[in-house]
Amino acid sequence: MKNIKVPVEISARHCHLSKEDMEKLFGAGHELEKLRQLFEPSDFACQETVDIQIGSKKFEKIRVVGPLRKQSQIEISLSDAIGSGVTPPVRLSGDLQGSLGAVLQGPAGRVDLKEGVIVARRHLHCATDEAKKYKLKTGDIVSVKIEGTRQTIFENIIVRVKDDYKLALHLDTDEGNSAGINKMGEGIII
Ligand SMILES: [Zn+2]
Repeated sequence: MKNIKVPVEISARHCHLSKEDMEKLFGAGHELEKLRQLFEPSDFACQETVDIQIGSKKFEKIRVVGPLRKQSQIEISLSDAIGSGVTPPVRLSGDLQGSLGAVLQGPAGRVDLKEGVIVARRHLHCATDEAKKYKLKTGDIVSVKIEGTRQTIFENIIVRVKDDYKLALHLDTDEGNSAGINKMGEGIII
């Protein structure tokens, strides 16, 4: 099936935290406070932010995105990494083995992460019923065309299917800027 319209959501730098790391940063028993819902029903931006040192660069007030995860993960763009002296690998969310380390500082303490810093690989979220309708499955590779002045075709997009997902292409700020999309846009699976 082709020519499917798809919302495009741009992810700015952010971090996901494990319960253990969250409690080290914000205090034992702390609960993340929801600031706003993101496009994916499972994800929300939190009130909480952390300062994060990656290589020789310090990022202040990086937004925490909930809910809590098994392992903490920090997502930045390659442009963010300029001047840090290090280059994070481009990876799918959750694939953190051998990725970059970082030092996180919160109001209650600090966390030294051995690994967890990545540049997110572009991916397409898809709900199970949408996947059936569009004949897509986890691991499929698709291309999405973005129209406009900076018309662009993104290739090598990996599909991820889950019940609580909603059809959307996730790009980082470098990719969004290259295609002229600020926060939300629209594309076509070609
Ligand atoms: Zn995503």
